[in-house]
Amino acid sequence: MSDCCSAPGLLPFTDALSNMLAQVPVITDTLTLPIEQALNYVLAQDIISPLNVPPHDNSAMDGYAFSVDSLNANNILTLVGRSMAGAPFEGKCKKGECIRIMTGAKMPDCCDTVEMQENVEVNGEQITFLQEKKLGANVRNAGEDILLGQQVLVSGRKLSAVDIGVLASLGVAEVVVYRKLKVALIATGDELKKPGQALRSGDIYETNSFVLSAMLEKLHVEVINFGIVEDDFEAIKSAFVSADEQADAVISSGGVSVGDADYTKAVLDDLGEIGFWKIAMKPGKPFAFGKLNNSVFFGLPGNPVSALVTFHQLALVALNKMQNGEALKRTQLTAKCTSDLRKAPGRMDFQRGFLSVNDAGENVVTSTGAQGSGILSSLAKANCFIILPSAQGKVTKGEQVTIQLFDEFL
Ligand code: AMP
Ligand code: MG
Repeated sequence: MSDCCSAPGLLPFTDALSNMLAQVPVITDTLTLPIEQALNYVLAQDIISPLNVPPHDNSAMDGYAFSVDSLNANNILTLVGRSMAGAPFEGKCKKGECIRIMTGAKMPDCCDTVEMQENVEVNGEQITFLQEKKLGANVRNAGEDILLGQQVLVSGRKLSAVDIGVLASLGVAEVVVYRKLKVALIATGDELKKPGQALRSGDIYETNSFVLSAMLEKLHVEVINFGIVEDDFEAIKSAFVSADEQADAVISSGGVSVGDADYTKAVLDDLGEIGFWKIAMKPGKPFAFGKLNNSVFFGLPGNPVSALVTFHQLALVALNKMQNGEALKRTQLTAKCTSDLRKAPGRMDFQRGFLSVNDAGENVVTSTGAQGSGILSSLAKANCFIILPSAQGKVTKGEQVTIQLFDEFL
């Protein structure tokens, strides 16, 4: 996502992001949680394995355990014991003997190989092995999954469902994690109504707090939703003051474009050190960022697509850092564009695309249609952003473009 050629007066996207990342504080408070409550929390410790997984060599099959060099010419061994999962055979066996064994049962010390029961003939205690067996066949070795002392998970890891399983396999019952980040959401605008309310002439339904709240939930933060605040100096000030007292980060939408943002800007100038930026990105040119008394402030543009894209590309990345999460890795690919795309040099575009694979096995990306910053439905139809660098002009059908696949937050 290089950005060398932004229009004069606009802040390159990459500068905006690195500027924010350099300024946000990271939380240090931790808590200890049982692993069954730790899903999606960020680990605050490295996890070093206290044991081998599995702890002992064991059978991968129901069958018969034996030592390969104890097989005689006629491949018949005498059954002398049983090893069950949780009830191992602790005795000795000699040349010419074998042990009945079940999947997961500990390998007897005197055996090195397992034959599955389908490949033997049983006559009382006499077991005939019908096939040749390679030394160590059907044996799962101690530590083949995880070795004693191995680093398994690193601080900063956002715990997945699979991670919880891995922790359980280590016998780890509790983990130290960072507390949840608290994020306040404020939607500003006199025209905004909550879904369920009637619209008066000139009103629209409030969208941003809903989509942002849903994305924040996926980030696993505690959302403090202030809902809609009218365009009024005192109302905005009291919401911002209260949000700042309660949250680590305050996110507002609307009122940041110069000229029509009077109250928000006036209030923020009163409360903190907020930079009003014009970022060389599309959608989402106007953006505010800075520090209030206790929290970090992100002022998103009001248009729903601009709010969502700036949140996803900028604020979310900063919040993830504040949470101590390992850097977000977003998958980028190249794809052949199926149509011309309009683009003027000077800003980095995040256009809405749908990636698929054509009959020839090539990645192809199709624009999902109108790219207006208020047209949320075309974002809903997309599965990727088509990222066009600042310097790029229009795209011609058939050209290769860079796409960023939607991640788990969208
Ligand atoms: P503003 O930045 O406040 O001038 O808003 C820009 C555009 O986004 C206007 O058309 C607003 O009506 C719209 N808008 C602002 N906030 C929201 C919101 N929370 N939900 C939906 N649309 C919004
Ligand atoms: Mg407004």
